Amino acid sequence: MSVAFLGTGIMGAPMAANIAKAGLGVRVWNRTRAKAEPLADVATVAHSAASAAEGADTLVTMLADGPAVAEAFEAASPAPGTLWLQMSTVGLDWTDRLAAAAEKAGVVFVDAPVLGTRQPAEQAQLQVLASGPEEARPKATPVFDAVAVKTQWLGPAGQGSRLKLVMNAWVLALTNGTAESLGLAAALGVEPSLFLETIKGGGLDAGYAHVKGAAMLSGEYPPSFPAGLAAKDARLVVEAAGDDVDVAGARAAQSHLEAAVEAGHGEEDMAVLYRAVLKSR
Ligand code: NAP
Repeated sequence: MSVAFLGTGIMGAPMAANIAKAGLGVRVWNRTRAKAEPLADVATVAHSAASAAEGADTLVTMLADGPAVAEAFEAASPAPGTLWLQMSTVGLDWTDRLAAAAEKAGVVFVDAPVLGTRQPAEQAQLQVLASGPEEARPKATPVFDAVAVKTQWLGPAGQGSRLKLVMNAWVLALTNGTAESLGLAAALGVEPSLFLETIKGGGLDAGYAHVKGAAMLSGEYPPSFPAGLAAKDARLVVEAAGDDVDVAGARAAQSHLEAAVEAGHGEEDMAVLYRAVLKSR
């Protein structure tokens, strides 16, 4: 099996490495070639999306957003019959558009966004939310098994992206909620770390609160999930909700993230939204 892997950013680089380590032949391409070079020990670094895809039977995309994926897919121009595992988070409208592009090209489309961040990606501990045609499963499984601890097959293409948005609403709520509790503590003259200490081990606890909360308290935000992409994900949640449900929590996270991005923190971790929560900073 030969895999063309497009996008070797925070998530894509360890995913491509793990696919190669599982014994599949991998050709990687990244717009900024320097980010693909470190994979040269385990994979072939291609000079273009088209040369990565040439002769590959499986294409994986792990790029920032829908427009980037559409552009890379068009440039790759995979042969009819290629299996396309679209693992970036692109939301519902773009998933439909990409599925249509795949159909036009005679490519088999699997919508397969992932749960997990930098460390789970490095440790092959992601969760894949897969959806697409039944016949794609046998060929997709070795790739998913190489990057993930669990794959859920959820029905026709688009269902994976739907569940991904549901999960992202939760991630945004946890991160924004942690920031607001820490910020409120600071404003009320309560030692902020007492919030994390007090939830620890009880029914109110969440591992994510400690990871993101520790970053907020340290003021250091090395990116696991860049704030710019988290803002994009918040927009996707709000757009998908439409008029059917009031996702006020996601909108609050979106506004804090967008403020952080505007202030120049888009490449730092999403926990940096704490700076927007603290009005005095
Ligand atoms: P990242 O490190 O910022 O990587 C983004 C990738 O997209 C890079 O390879 C970048 O290329 C490429 N890209 C951006 N715009 C492009 C364009 N116009 N044309 C071609 N390539 C373009 O982000 P990441 O964290 O790996 O995220 C990748 C995807 O996974 C996103 O959809 C994200 O929402 C999703 N995701 C992320 C996490 C997480 O915790 N990080 C978790 C789950 C899902 P350059 O290197 O040239 O900029």
